[in-house]
Amino acid sequence: MAVPFIDLKRFEDGFLQCWAQKVAELSSTASFIGGEEVAQFEQTLSRLTDSKFAISCANGTDAIQLALRALDIGRDDLVLVPNMTFWATFEAVVNVSASPITVDSNLSDGGIDFIAFTEAVEKYRPKAAVIAHLYGWGTVNLKKIRDYCTENNVLLVEDGAQCFGTQYENEPIYKGALISTTSFYPAKVLGAAGDGGAVFTNDELLAKRVRQLANHGRTSHYGYGLVGWNSRLDSLQAAYLNLTVEFLPSRIESRLNAVSFYKQHLAGIGINQIEAPLDYVSNGYCHVGLVDNERLKQDIEISLKSHQIGFGNIYPGAMSDQECSHRYMHAHVGGSYAQQICNTVINLPVFPYITETELNSVVEVVKSACEEK
Ligand SMILES: *Cc1c(COP(=O)(O)O)cnc(C)c1O
Repeated sequence: MAVPFIDLKRFEDGFLQCWAQKVAELSSTASFIGGEEVAQFEQTLSRLTDSKFAISCANGTDAIQLALRALDIGRDDLVLVPNMTFWATFEAVVNVSASPITVDSNLSDGGIDFIAFTEAVEKYRPKAAVIAHLYGWGTVNLKKIRDYCTENNVLLVEDGAQCFGTQYENEPIYKGALISTTSFYPAKVLGAAGDGGAVFTNDELLAKRVRQLANHGRTSHYGYGLVGWNSRLDSLQAAYLNLTVEFLPSRIESRLNAVSFYKQHLAGIGINQIEAPLDYVSNGYCHVGLVDNERLKQDIEISLKSHQIGFGNIYPGAMSDQECSHRYMHAHVGGSYAQQICNTVINLPVFPYITETELNSVVEVVKSACEEK
């Protein structure tokens, strides 16, 4: 049975009718920018993330740039970034004219390596660091990193594009951050009908600066206190997200069921299925398998392809291995575990309302590829 890597078309009963009605309503009143939908969505975000301030913006990449700019990170400032993350984490640092220093990842959870992180801080005294919470959880050392950054005056930005709904020490992961960001790209756990993002913080001044930067640095309609840009979330996206948020718990539950189905049925066959460290409750963003045996990884992928089962490699290449990255990088710190993850990672299909029949097909194909070995 063919199974897509991700299927975004499995809406709850009645969802599309509600959405069509919303579009008609907002269109008939030409409510396209700002307004009630955006205000309501920001209130919901603030509640769900337990953050005092939630500022919506145009996408998750802008959200990181807004956070960096609000912290006054700019020309020639050194900023640590994980060597394994989505390219936008690296890109955001370069786009604010700062210089990234890549730091190795750790194999147990895919997060930034704490030892390499402290080495990088001691050696380069960076002004800031951006870490990314990949796969639906954060690193086991998150609290240590937060405390270490506070003690060493490193401004910490947390790229939480993949962890909306994730709990850390029984609280939303964003709550304990100085400043954190997310993305509402459709394939994320809370996805829009297009692009969207947000910045979360408990610091009022930072929140004010983010909001101002995202709206041309405005102080009044034609008065400008900063050079920002246009990074607003539009009202239709906010309306879609307001409708979606109601179903977030059941979507997350369905994702988590899929991940634990794989965990259970693919145990002991040569795939190291990594998962959220103990202090976390994951949002089920994805399944992560590491296959050290190169031949086996290839066989699994060939088999999945031939059965029309989608899979991912999140991510296939480290930041420091991208064609252009050395033009911008100040340095790299640590070893090459990031590359090891990139070379061995396979992600199996996970999306809301994937069926047990689909999960069984995936499991059968992966198992038989492993058993042939
Ligand atoms: C998706 C993602 C982003 C970028 O978000 P966009 O909304 O696509 O700009 C940044 N960082 C990580 C880790 C992501 O997964």
